[in-house]
Amino acid sequence: MTSVNTSINSDCKVTEEDPELAILQLLAEYKWANGFVCRKCGHEHFCVGKKPYSRRCTRCKTEESATAHTVFHRCRIPLTEAVKLAETVCKQPDISSYEISRIFEKRQMTCWKFKTRIMECLSDEHKASLLKHLILATR
Ligand SMILES: [Zn+2]
Repeated sequence: MTSVNTSINSDCKVTEEDPELAILQLLAEYKWANGFVCRKCGHEHFCVGKKPYSRRCTRCKTEESATAHTVFHRCRIPLTEAVKLAETVCKQPDISSYEISRIFEKRQMTCWKFKTRIMECLSDEHKASLLKHLILATR
């Protein structure tokens, strides 16, 4: 097993050309900016997981994806679209989920759930600044 280089790209430059992977790369950078800690057992060592940018605890073998416990956790739409949707909500917090549903051609329920999550994220200063950075960095 190869261990991942833990050094953080200070200005979080995206090196991935695939936009989906670029978003995962940034999410992983933000999420583990202070190092990896396994949510299950607290172990701090990891190896590369099966999915791109996921990390796997070397003790209990639990894998955590780059999106887990972020605003994009179990997101049903492609990340590139999810980021655009997030950007729309950031700009127009009063937009209805029906309107989002119409623009993005997604189910209203999916949009409503995701919008709710983005609004929660925006109410937390730290999370909001990360989300805004992500939106700008992946544009
Ligand atoms: Zn573990």
